[in-house]
Amino acid sequence: MSYTSLFKWLKKYQWLIIFIFSAKIPFVGIYLFSSGFLLTRNELPNKSSPNTFPLGNHLDTLFFHNHNSSQQYSESDNKLKENASVSQIWPTQKYEKVTILIIDALRIDYAAFNYSNSKGKFTYTSKDSIGKYILDSPQLNFRDKIPIIDLKLSKNPLQSMLLRFRADPPTTTLQRLKGLTTGQLPTFIDAGSNFAGSSISEDNWLYQFSNSFTARNLNSNQTSRNLVFLGDDTWSSLFPVQLENTFPPSALKGSTPSDGWTFSRPFPSLDVWDLDTVDDGVISFLPFFLLPNFSELSHNETPGHNQIFYNKWSSLIFSNRSSQNSNHYSQINSDSGFPPDPQNFNLIIGHLLGVDHAGHRYGPVHKEMSRKLSQMNSLISLTIDSMDLDLKRQKSSHPNSKNYNSSLLIVFGDHGMNMKGDHGGDSDEELDAGIFMYSNIPFKSESGQKRVYRVLERTKDFLQNLSIQNNIETDHDIRDGFAHNGHLYNGNPIRNMLQVDFVPTISLMLGLPIPFNNLGSVNGELFCDSFYKIPNLNETVIRSANITFFSKKSKSIDFKSFIHNHAIPNLLIKNSGPVLEWGYLYSMRLNAAQIYLYLSTYKTFSSNHGFSKDMLSNWDILYNKAQLSYLDLLHFRNSFNDTKFIDEKDKYNLESLEEKSTIDFLVFSRVVLSDLRKSWAQFDNTLIYFGLLFTSIGFIQLIYIAFLINDIGISPICNIAFKSLISGVAFNFLSTRMIKFFSIIFQAISGSSVFLELSEKFQKNPKAGLGISASLSSLTFLTLSILYKKVKPLNHQTGKIVNDEKSGGDVTRSRYKLSILNLLSVAGIIITLLHSLIFTSNSFTINEESVVFYLLQTYFLLLLLFGLWNIKSFIFQKKEVRDYFVSVFCIANVISLNKISTISSVCREETSSFCNTTFYGFGQSPSLTVSTVSLSIFGMILSYITPLLLKALVFKGSYKDIYSTNIWTSLGLSSTLTLSSFYWLIDSIQGNLSNVLGSEKDGLDWSD
Ligand SMILES: [Zn+2]
Repeated sequence: MSYTSLFKWLKKYQWLIIFIFSAKIPFVGIYLFSSGFLLTRNELPNKSSPNTFPLGNHLDTLFFHNHNSSQQYSESDNKLKENASVSQIWPTQKYEKVTILIIDALRIDYAAFNYSNSKGKFTYTSKDSIGKYILDSPQLNFRDKIPIIDLKLSKNPLQSMLLRFRADPPTTTLQRLKGLTTGQLPTFIDAGSNFAGSSISEDNWLYQFSNSFTARNLNSNQTSRNLVFLGDDTWSSLFPVQLENTFPPSALKGSTPSDGWTFSRPFPSLDVWDLDTVDDGVISFLPFFLLPNFSELSHNETPGHNQIFYNKWSSLIFSNRSSQNSNHYSQINSDSGFPPDPQNFNLIIGHLLGVDHAGHRYGPVHKEMSRKLSQMNSLISLTIDSMDLDLKRQKSSHPNSKNYNSSLLIVFGDHGMNMKGDHGGDSDEELDAGIFMYSNIPFKSESGQKRVYRVLERTKDFLQNLSIQNNIETDHDIRDGFAHNGHLYNGNPIRNMLQVDFVPTISLMLGLPIPFNNLGSVNGELFCDSFYKIPNLNETVIRSANITFFSKKSKSIDFKSFIHNHAIPNLLIKNSGPVLEWGYLYSMRLNAAQIYLYLSTYKTFSSNHGFSKDMLSNWDILYNKAQLSYLDLLHFRNSFNDTKFIDEKDKYNLESLEEKSTIDFLVFSRVVLSDLRKSWAQFDNTLIYFGLLFTSIGFIQLIYIAFLINDIGISPICNIAFKSLISGVAFNFLSTRMIKFFSIIFQAISGSSVFLELSEKFQKNPKAGLGISASLSSLTFLTLSILYKKVKPLNHQTGKIVNDEKSGGDVTRSRYKLSILNLLSVAGIIITLLHSLIFTSNSFTINEESVVFYLLQTYFLLLLLFGLWNIKSFIFQKKEVRDYFVSVFCIANVISLNKISTISSVCREETSSFCNTTFYGFGQSPSLTVSTVSLSIFGMILSYITPLLLKALVFKGSYKDIYSTNIWTSLGLSSTLTLSSFYWLIDSIQGNLSNVLGSEKDGLDWSD
């Protein structure tokens, strides 16, 4: 390529260079602005240890010392054996067998029988086949399809509970599983890496389960951790190590069979059209673990009591299976990976996807939803029966034992779904999942439950007062344990549990340490009737702790040395047995200490922790307050004589002190969660301000360039822009080194390394580099352009040539054209600015469609007015009358086409109540009609023809030199049109596929 051709090429694309230059600053601005929102949470590598308690501060050292004696006192004394398991410091497990069934997208109103809501949320309107509205009708296919939950709640109220299970957005399964296992909050960065499916590195209860030896049977000193995983393969990508099969033994890596086994059968989760494969897999494997000898008994021909029950399981496995899959069952029977003792499992995790997929494919009102939910009902019901049968067997074989192995079933949804059956957002329908728990042995008494309710009610009042008096705001969800926004089943209020609360709760129930990073709080109802042995502390120790505590505020060393100087035995009352502490208080204390330890570790771990001074002092005050009320409780306990019998009044006082202390620990953990939600969802203001600054500089620069083009022409600007772009990069490279150079000199003179550190920080920060580069090239451009104007006589020749090239002679005409065009451009700019104001208000954003339509129509009407007004000028300019009418006709056409386009609309999910989707035809499901396919194909043809038509009819070569117009019509317009019609084409093909497949299925049912 010769130089001349290179210059020709450059000249041809000089608009492109100017475009790149003028886009640089706004792009940097937008980048800085948006990175101000991407606040990252640091993932701490720390793991909780099964051998140590979390010690939040020095007082905890006192409270949790002499750990070995703090064993759970449960329904029986058998479990109170001293040193039964030396490595077991955290409370022993409450349940020998825990079965977790995750029904993906199980919304609270699917789980709650006879669900109602006073606020009018979750009231569904849908249309039947003839377009008539069904308003919240009981015929809706998702309603009242799981009656087993209601049955258990009314028949066995002390063995079961149903809660609203509130998720943190984003409501995608991967994000939810992270929250449900680590107890942490999602951050924006997390949301960005949503589909990467990388393994979880943060501490979580599954890690703890695999890494700690859970005391399965304290009497026989046997330890194991037998794990079964079935279902959604998202789990195996999150926990590749923990969910690796360890059976048969040949597959073992390093561990011995006595550590327990892992039986893992993941099923593919990505095919959302498939409603049954994953569920059938889970259902087929489950009875082999829940029931002894399932494989033999289910083939046994002699009918007996158990036989009928076993047959029910078998029929559930076969009920939804088409004939070609019926050999599946024998495949499972011959699965060589079964452990020899399948019913000795400790934990089953089964993740079912059918309900979620039914939502995605058909939406919640479709009858496929009803089929899937009924199947889930049978599954839950059979699982409960199997658990009850297990207890019955134990009782018949050991009729005199008081210590039966108890099982717990937990059924929950990781998120809900919206009216279209989708999820991911933060609407109530997506956030409100349901959680149901059932134990074959009662886990609470009525009095214990009342105590928990009291604690929750008072915590709510306490938090409300904090927000009124001390300005410590807490989220409504966090504050309100009773979900007073009106969720009811059969008229009973449904209480609220946050999904992060699942983590400490399941951890303590399985006898595991609470994961290090957990932010949730234990669910008190499960601990309200347990009591834990704690050492009886010497009164003088408690007194000195109290005194030292108050005086230590300035010097924390005092208290620490105090603990150290007293040998631990001296802290205990000699010859006195341990005292029993209420389970909820004990677990909440552990929970709060774990959170406090996490906070202090996080604070030292990262320099930009984002905790404000107010937050830190509030946490300290609240945590210390909780510990003080705990000291009050200890005082009260010690005021009794060892032998003195506690009378009713003392018992009442003791209990209310226990409750007060529990409330204080709970308040602390709730405030922390609320603060962290705010702080990790907050924005980096510096970046946002710089972003705004750069964007507005870019805007001013754009106007400057526009005037400059008018003034000196394109070629010189292209020349200057090119130089500025290069110099910006070069200056940036030099300036960072210069800053470093001078900071070294400064350090040599003053001895202070502050500037060096600053400059290193600066250099490592790519955002600062980008900002410098962009502003330096802008500065260069400004300088060069002023210089160019100043020394214009020298360069006049070039400038003039360009000017001549641009406007073909007639000065008056070009002036006139410019003024009209300028006015219209200003109007265009104003309309664009008005459009950007949409984001200032939520109601504008929701109604964006109509706002944009209004703005566009206004602009076109303005154009039409200009056109009509200028009839004289056109005639005066001796333009052809035909041209005038063509342009007016074109504008009028645009206005009417724009109006027609509003007939077809796709609603945003937020507008569901007052917007009617017409794009898909009628009906709620996202399936499309054939007409949308043909429209999309027509759109693609138009995308090719339209630019050609525009060039031939409208521009007619008069604009041929203005490359931006050329580029826009040929490249911009056609690619935009092509891409959008391609999107709708794919969408409609997908919709049609679902229609075709759906109608096939429906066809089978049609006959009856
Ligand atoms: Zn889903």
